[in-house]
Amino acid sequence: MRSRTPRTSRTFSTSWRRWSAASRPSKTRSSRSWSNFENAQRDLGAVTSELSEIGGLITEAEGTRDKAFGEIDAQLAELTAERELTAKAVPDDLLALYGKLRSQYGVGAAALRQRRCEGCRLELNAADLREIAAEPADAVLRCPECSRILVRTSESGL
Ligand SMILES: [Zn+2]
Repeated sequence: MRSRTPRTSRTFSTSWRRWSAASRPSKTRSSRSWSNFENAQRDLGAVTSELSEIGGLITEAEGTRDKAFGEIDAQLAELTAERELTAKAVPDDLLALYGKLRSQYGVGAAALRQRRCEGCRLELNAADLREIAAEPADAVLRCPECSRILVRTSESGL
């Protein structure tokens, strides 16, 4: 009986059989090496699948990161604009002092809260607190301990 398999398919099938026979271990070879090869192929498949999964996770994480960067950039632009508006209301010499202290200490001004400078966290002594309390409301005060600009608040404890 004649086969109905198309010629190209037969050719492929023949080639496959030849290749497969050549690739298969001979009877003299150890079946162990063939088993190792099959195990290695199976491991390769698992690793390739895992790698693909990890690639998906990386892509997802990059998307989350890029979204967060976008939000941070938007916040930064908003805060920069807000800072520029606030700085316009501050006299130039005070702004220069603040800039110098900020570059020196990281924080140029700190609130005085409960008799404590929030810049250096030290509690001011009674004599310093009396001097600060006696200064006019618009006076620029400096922390006697860390030299930062000291901002009085309703919670200063004066
Ligand atoms: Zn201080």
